Amino acid sequence: MSTNVAGAQCECPECAGVVSFTRPPLAGEVVRCGECGVELEVTATSPLTVTLAPEVEEDWGE
Ligand SMILES: [Zn+2]
Repeated sequence: MSTNVAGAQCECPECAGVVSFTRPPLAGEVVRCGECGVELEVTATSPLTVTLAPEVEEDWGE
């Protein structure tokens, strides 16, 4: 079972477009939708889940 496969994809909650990851997604990572440009935060990697990221970037630390 391999959850760190490059090329993972998920659906953008904003435009329903496909968001592709060139690197294995990490929880807490912020990515940009290539379709609408919105920023999305990865909230879980298994299954891969993203939500709209807050406009202000904050470092929550660990
Ligand atoms: Zn989008």
